[in-house]
Amino acid sequence: MSSAANEIGLLVEELMPLLAALWDMVPEIGGSPSTGTMGHHKASSSAPWHQEAGPLLYSIAQEARKLEASLRRDASGRLGQRRGGSDANTTAALLSICKLAYGVPDADARLAARIISRWIRNARQVIDQDERPMPVPVRPGRRRPPCPYCGTFSLRVVPRDGAIWCINRGCTDRDGRQPRGTLERSTVTGGGMIVWPDGRITRNRDLA
Ligand SMILES: [Zn+2]
Repeated sequence: MSSAANEIGLLVEELMPLLAALWDMVPEIGGSPSTGTMGHHKASSSAPWHQEAGPLLYSIAQEARKLEASLRRDASGRLGQRRGGSDANTTAALLSICKLAYGVPDADARLAARIISRWIRNARQVIDQDERPMPVPVRPGRRRPPCPYCGTFSLRVVPRDGAIWCINRGCTDRDGRQPRGTLERSTVTGGGMIVWPDGRITRNRDLA
């Protein structure tokens, strides 16, 4: 088993929430990556990073398609069908890259890992510190809360507005959608809580 291929899976997991944050910055590109639940609600066109998010998304989308085709050629000898331009297709290309990486020589997978690392660096540069998705903050020494739907530690939050979601692919809420809630503070107890669109509330006094 190729360790570079494993690394690609981890890098794509890291990239996904960054892409989601970039998609949120560019409402006119539109479309959700997979489920229609991402909601491009943060259309603040005056923000300074806004101008850079669109071109970066475009270049990542193009390069992801090229990388997928090149890995498929290395793995199977054929380029395959060219994907359309939607966000969902970019997500599909990235997931396909994760799988194809196991079928190519290690050197090719390492090269792919370097390309994806560059996308992550570029995305971080465009996304302001307080706009960046990060693990849920907890008080020192406390345990991070697991996702109430899948039980893994896959929750990511954007500090600026408390938007929180689960990056575990395949995790769904009670309405069958990707869990996407808001990190809030209880007015009664002052403790942290996560409010989910399907009505669930996750209370956790360990939340910072
Ligand atoms: Zn989950």
